[in-house]
Amino acid sequence: MNAASELAILVVAAGRGARAGGGIPKQYRSLAGQPLLARTLGALMRAAPGATVLPVIHKDDLDLYRASATRFEADFCLAGPVFGGTTRQASVRLGLEALSVQQPPPAIVLIHDAARLFVSATLVQRAVVAAKTHGAAIPGVALTDTIKEIDTQASVIATAPRARLRAVQTPQAFRFDLILAAHRNAASVGALDLTDDAAVAAWAGHRVHVFAGEASNMKVTTSEDLAVAEARLMGNLADVRIGQGYDVHAFGPGGHIWLGGIKIAHDHGLAGYSDADVLSHAITDALFGAVAEADIGSHFPPSDPQWRGAASRIFLAAAAAKVRARGGVIAHIDATLVCERPKVGPHRDAIRASIAGIVEIPLDRVAIKATTSEGLGFTGREEGIASLAVATIRLPL
Ligand code: MG
Repeated sequence: MNAASELAILVVAAGRGARAGGGIPKQYRSLAGQPLLARTLGALMRAAPGATVLPVIHKDDLDLYRASATRFEADFCLAGPVFGGTTRQASVRLGLEALSVQQPPPAIVLIHDAARLFVSATLVQRAVVAAKTHGAAIPGVALTDTIKEIDTQASVIATAPRARLRAVQTPQAFRFDLILAAHRNAASVGALDLTDDAAVAAWAGHRVHVFAGEASNMKVTTSEDLAVAEARLMGNLADVRIGQGYDVHAFGPGGHIWLGGIKIAHDHGLAGYSDADVLSHAITDALFGAVAEADIGSHFPPSDPQWRGAASRIFLAAAAAKVRARGGVIAHIDATLVCERPKVGPHRDAIRASIAGIVEIPLDRVAIKATTSEGLGFTGREEGIASLAVATIRLPL
């Protein structure tokens, strides 16, 4: 944990999220190619680069969490995770306890729901200022719908005074010592049904200030919300780029070749510094081309001994990560192998699945084709294999 972080952001992701369906907790559902939780963590870390970001997860979700979050650990101050409790209130308290051992503890903590992926940098900044000024502060937005109170027969019995109501969001923002003490006291006397951290602070006798939230800071709860959030993300990914790649490797001695991360028995091998996976190299260059980040040889120079015999999935995964690091998605990969032998058809589906797995996109976004060159040229003489690839990506505007 980063000892220097004055600001900590607790991300509550321990819920089961059953209302969104899909068989896994909603925070791990994919939204435009990345799990919801990864998008929320990414938004927070971009909003507050120096902060300690600590997710609180369910202990059964550790594998899902690792798949979502590992890509951040090198670049950002992502701590933990901490395992949550049986209620949201217990999960937050356990997260606060974990932060309390930080030396020194944070001065300010923001407590944020994993389900709010559109949290903006300006909202985070407002939250920090409000916590410093007021000690306890939450974002709220005015209501646009009129609110009616109804009876058990669904008949209206009252109209709520809309002007005085606010729909509150997260991040809720607190002086760290204040909210830690409030949660500890609530737990020690069994006040365990407080629905949010503002309620915990109010229960402990603190005034809670409401600052301006953002209508765009939606909470993803249902499967319909997931669809709306994905449409919003995709609508923003309108900068379409196309990259192309080309590679050739010569046949040499050996009994197998690698194509798209799949080992295929053959009466020759392919010569090369790495595993000579000509297909993966062409796709890697197409992805580097799409983000205008030079080529495979400049990222993984053959002069560097660590790449001798390397599995080309490393290169391909790194190129895909370049797209994700820009907040983008890979829309499609289309590649062609040019060779007389081996026959690619029997291996096509395995190769597609392998590439889809390495670059983390759905199978129906990977096309692999093969052709001979009718006996003409170096491929026709079976001196080697050539591969061409096109990658279509979408970046944020
Ligand atoms: Mg190559």
